[in-house]
Amino acid sequence: MPVNLPKTIPDEEAEIRSRVLHAARTLATRGLSPNRSGNISARYAGGMLITPSGMAYDELREGDIVFVSPDGRAASNSRKPSSEWHFHLAAYHARPDRGGVVHTHSMYATVLACAHKPIPAFHYMVAVAGGTDIPLVPYATFGTPELAAHVTVGLAHRDACLMANHGLIAIGADVDKALELATEVETLAEQYVKVLSLGPPHVLPDAEMRVVLEKFKSYGQNAQK
Ligand code: 13P
Ligand code: ZN
Repeated sequence: MPVNLPKTIPDEEAEIRSRVLHAARTLATRGLSPNRSGNISARYAGGMLITPSGMAYDELREGDIVFVSPDGRAASNSRKPSSEWHFHLAAYHARPDRGGVVHTHSMYATVLACAHKPIPAFHYMVAVAGGTDIPLVPYATFGTPELAAHVTVGLAHRDACLMANHGLIAIGADVDKALELATEVETLAEQYVKVLSLGPPHVLPDAEMRVVLEKFKSYGQNAQK
């Protein structure tokens, strides 16, 4: 049964609920959320709006998205928030410039995370996560503050990282950007797994990646000239 929202939901909250819902459905449609895994949130009112725990994304309604306050509380008449609310809040705390978080157990990112293999600059597009690699953070039990502490370190200088024996987390200016990055990192992970099957990768030097990172600032329709 869908949860009933109060009738006085501000327009801004309704808009963000619908964006989180749309991103969750897109994650499922893209096959990046096997067996109900993963979670999505958007920063809102000092806290966040986050997907509920353990629900299939194609059955979600806007009222199922849960508001979690900055100190980690959800209203008693809301759904139970994602078990990973600790690391979502931690990501917003660590990166005040980011407004959306997407976590997946998408196939190839998870394969690399389980093999404890961060993604080096085997392809210049690795820079899309904001640095010269996509790092791996150590394992901790899902849903724990300990895992959130690892994620805080992993996202300090990157917009995505792998979590050992678990999956991927990506952040963005908003939830759509975070979803776009999670999808891109999954593509890179698939390419990297295939490259590894052919032999050792040819990793681009840091100096070249710095050139790429600089070029990204004005790539496409980005404003900077
Ligand atoms: P939730 O359904 O509680 O969001 O958990 C899924 C998950 O991926 C845990 O890491
Ligand atoms: Zn997970």
